Amino acid sequence: MLKSKLIILAWLLLLVPTLLLGVGALRLLESEEARLLDSRRTSAADRVTAIAGNIDLAIAEVQDGLQDILRQLPQQQLADQLHRWKQENPLVRNVFIWQQGRGLLLPDPQHPASDEEAAFVRRFQPLFADQSSWQPPQTDRQVTTTPASSILAERRELRLLAQRAPEPAPQEQQADSAVSSSESARKTAPSPVSGSSHWRSWYADDQLHLLGWFVPDGNSQRYGIEVEMMALLSRLLGNLPLQIDGEESFALLDGKEQIFHQVGNFEILPDRQPLARVALQNLPHWQVAAYADPATAGAASGIMLFGSLLIGTFIIAILLGGSLLLWQAWRNQRDASQKTSFVSNVSHELKTPLTTIRMYAELLGEGRINDQQKQQRYLQTIIKESQRLTRLVNNVLDFNRLEQGRRRYQQDRLELKQLLTELLESQQPRLREAEIELELDLPPESCPLQSDRDALEQIILNLLDNGIKYAAAGKKLQLQLRCGQAQLRLRLRDWGPGIPNAHKQRVFEKFHRVDNSLTTRQQGSGLGLSIARQLAEGLGGQLDYCPIEGNGCCFELLLPLGGEK
Ligand code: ADP
Repeated sequence: MLKSKLIILAWLLLLVPTLLLGVGALRLLESEEARLLDSRRTSAADRVTAIAGNIDLAIAEVQDGLQDILRQLPQQQLADQLHRWKQENPLVRNVFIWQQGRGLLLPDPQHPASDEEAAFVRRFQPLFADQSSWQPPQTDRQVTTTPASSILAERRELRLLAQRAPEPAPQEQQADSAVSSSESARKTAPSPVSGSSHWRSWYADDQLHLLGWFVPDGNSQRYGIEVEMMALLSRLLGNLPLQIDGEESFALLDGKEQIFHQVGNFEILPDRQPLARVALQNLPHWQVAAYADPATAGAASGIMLFGSLLIGTFIIAILLGGSLLLWQAWRNQRDASQKTSFVSNVSHELKTPLTTIRMYAELLGEGRINDQQKQQRYLQTIIKESQRLTRLVNNVLDFNRLEQGRRRYQQDRLELKQLLTELLESQQPRLREAEIELELDLPPESCPLQSDRDALEQIILNLLDNGIKYAAAGKKLQLQLRCGQAQLRLRLRDWGPGIPNAHKQRVFEKFHRVDNSLTTRQQGSGLGLSIARQLAEGLGGQLDYCPIEGNGCCFELLLPLGGEK
């Protein structure tokens, strides 16, 4: 009991750390995967931020350019100038002039020149009717603190700095000689009107529109343009990387998060989630996003799967190996204790008949027993006990030979009916003494076979021995022989207390003895049935427990008539 508890404890000591190790390794694998994904996201976010910065800068440049032109438009014939500009510049979709108090002056809201103009007036109606503030709502102008916006601000500042021309010195202004070509160009260009420039993004018909206008100082007029978005967007696409070496694709997403344009080595499917995305400052609700290649994402989960399988295999291998070692240790320890009890059992079994033989031999030797009948009885006892010794020694010798695989089988020509009759005849005194009646059930025909006589006798004697030792209470033994064409069947049945179900197969294991009072009362080494079965198998047959109705137990020996295999 204590030993089995120790085994369970040892197994738990093996199981718990192994499982902890496995769980730890899996956690490590998971965190490593999350870390990889994180660093991938960060680097994708960096790339997307740079692209978004480029696009924002490009839009800012377009906006600044358009505002420059607006600023420089001569105030006389403003409507004509705007019209011409619209016809010449693909970026200009519509132009307008609006005046505080009078509303829209151009295009004429009552008589628009085209459908496009009518749609334009309708689109910006709230603005032109002064129902909506010209100042963009705070959120529109709000600069979020994304990296893209800071890059944008820095680059814009740098560009303005680079474009800043030197202020002409007062004396230079007076001098009309030595005029550089750029200055002459500046002189020929209309002088810019001072005022303020504005941009406003506008959502209508589910689309983004950009409206830019200029308000000259001290003037109630404001005039400006609506940007042709398609012309602007198609020119922005060049800011997306052309050549992509990595495992990512990039996309420009519109206000409805639909892919407007994509670049990369694989196609982005509409339902894919991006690795990183950054909003464009100058195109509200539009974003740039980076997507991971589904093939490499599969590879990452493949690595996770492979890692988990590897860890699982390690755990199973450790547990199996450990369990095997523990099982082996448990078996060795059981064998050792069985061998110890075997040695003490055998010594005891040897000692009892030897003591009896010596005692009766001494009595006879002293010549003090004159009674003839007594002398006969003593001699019978000496013969019986020496036979018991022989059986025991034979068993031990057989066990040794069988264990070492040294048991050789003879091919004797036997007549089984005759062999049984002779053998049982020699056992009659024992049966009589145990008050057991032996019922012999032999077939009428003879039963010849080729087999090893000693092995066969040993099997039958071991079975008979057990019948006498453990089933004497049943008062009856039955030996039944049936000879078929190819094999014979020998059954020995008793009406004793029988063998508990849990032990019916285990009694054939070496050293196994049923742990009950019946067994402890009798001497034995736990070898008889194990040897009998091994011998039966050595003869090419088999020995088994056969099910019966009622009390007792029954053993069945099946043997081929031809002899050894
Ligand atoms: P041994 O008789 O030396 O103990 P065996 O291998 O012959 O060893 O038998 C193993 C065990 O099987 C016995 O210890 C006994 O408990 C049980 N056994 C064998 N034959 C019988 C039987 N006929 N009736 C009841 N128990 C039996």
